Amino acid sequence: MLDISIHYLSKLLGVVYRGKPTVYAKRVAIDSRYVQEGDLFFALPGEKVDGHEYVDQAFEKGAVGAVVTDVKMVKNYEVQNLLITNDTLRGLQDLAKLIRQNSLIPVVAITGSVGKTTTKDILFSLLNKKYNTLKTKGNYNNEIGLPLTLCSLDKNTEAAVIEMGMRGLGQIDFLCNIASPTHAIITNIGKTHAEILGSQENIAKAKAEILKYLPEEGTVLLNLDDKDLLLPYLKECKAKINWFGSDASADYCLESIIDMDENKSIFKLRALDEIVEIELGIPGEHNIINAISAIGVARSLDFDWDSIKEGLKEIELSKMRLQIENSTKGSKIINDAYNANPASMNAALSFLGEFHNKRKVAVLGDMYELGQNEEQEHKLIGEIAQQKNIDKLIVIGKLAKHIGTGAEEAKMEPENIHYFNNNDDAISFLQEYTQKDDVVLVKGSRGMYMEKIVEELMR
Ligand code: ATP
Ligand code: MG
Repeated sequence: MLDISIHYLSKLLGVVYRGKPTVYAKRVAIDSRYVQEGDLFFALPGEKVDGHEYVDQAFEKGAVGAVVTDVKMVKNYEVQNLLITNDTLRGLQDLAKLIRQNSLIPVVAITGSVGKTTTKDILFSLLNKKYNTLKTKGNYNNEIGLPLTLCSLDKNTEAAVIEMGMRGLGQIDFLCNIASPTHAIITNIGKTHAEILGSQENIAKAKAEILKYLPEEGTVLLNLDDKDLLLPYLKECKAKINWFGSDASADYCLESIIDMDENKSIFKLRALDEIVEIELGIPGEHNIINAISAIGVARSLDFDWDSIKEGLKEIELSKMRLQIENSTKGSKIINDAYNANPASMNAALSFLGEFHNKRKVAVLGDMYELGQNEEQEHKLIGEIAQQKNIDKLIVIGKLAKHIGTGAEEAKMEPENIHYFNNNDDAISFLQEYTQKDDVVLVKGSRGMYMEKIVEELMR
């Protein structure tokens, strides 16, 4: 937070202040349940609840002030410290921008269709070796989460890694305007949100909005697979462009995988003109590519190889991303239930496919937001499941049914494909079916709540 009184802050933000003149806030909060002593509480309007209903609770828990639209909704409003504005969310965003502008640190923005949170976690682990680094918590990547994250910047912060999500054109513009990134990664351009954006070209356009915000001294890491899609926007980019990928023409190129197991990968990387061997402390081939983009950013910030190697060994991923857990019955669960789309389904099935001497069970749910091609995209996943020699395919939901059809068409034995309408029925089946030494992948879109299956199997 800025080290200024909330009275002075109100002047900078151009909002009205009623309260004591010299009150300082330590942090910003939007959820009264988590308010701590010294917080400034923003009463945000919500779909289901209005933050104004919780201002009293925020004060009871120690908030020193609140940003509100309607003072009359605050108990004893005459004696509280209130900043009054007709748009409290805008107030939060303006404050975040102000805080960012007062902090001359590298800010790395991470956007893309899949792998944003994972790449953010990897890059954080790298940068935090040398710099006191702030990162987006969990998946706080939207017009509320991003400003909230930036509000935690303080005079001790030396770098920030910020995730940017988007569902339409103009949204990355909006977030960049607040965050002023100096560096960026576009992890990849997939097909998620095709429903809203219409085409992959439009998805590329939306993500490419980030490019024009980067300064000359900055660097952006772009996926070589997306080169054609991004080409129209490169001339808007003043920053240095480095490509990453597994093709030899990439600046940061995966040369070869030396070894890989369920906990780590060891690979050879060509970084510009150097060859280095890297041990990455998380599994999955797709995570090697995520890590390479993060390494590119770290190198552009002059990190030496020793600290990069150190940072890559001990990464803490956010939950439900290829999280390996052991069930009570002795089977291994790959909890990838956070979300699903064609790219991440493919990545997760490839990972499961590597467990050669085990019975491989894939529990897959619907993938949302795929637009017109949803049936075809689901069928393709079924085909991939068959190619990866998955032994048992459990599909849950109306769309995932097509995964089953795709697998049948690819000649998977019908008795190895099981169709369920909901998680509960699938749980009953799995509790009977799974055995010690099975490996069970659980994955579906967020709205499928597939973590419930993991919870039950762990019980
Ligand atoms: P969201 O849009 O929900 O914020 P995200 O872009 O932050 O998603 P993650 O949460 O990192 O993505 O990962 C989502 C899923 O995609 C996980 O199952 C993860 O294992 C998988 N994944 C991560 N990186 C990649 C990648 N480069 N290619 C394919 N799948 C990936
Ligand atoms: Mg995310």
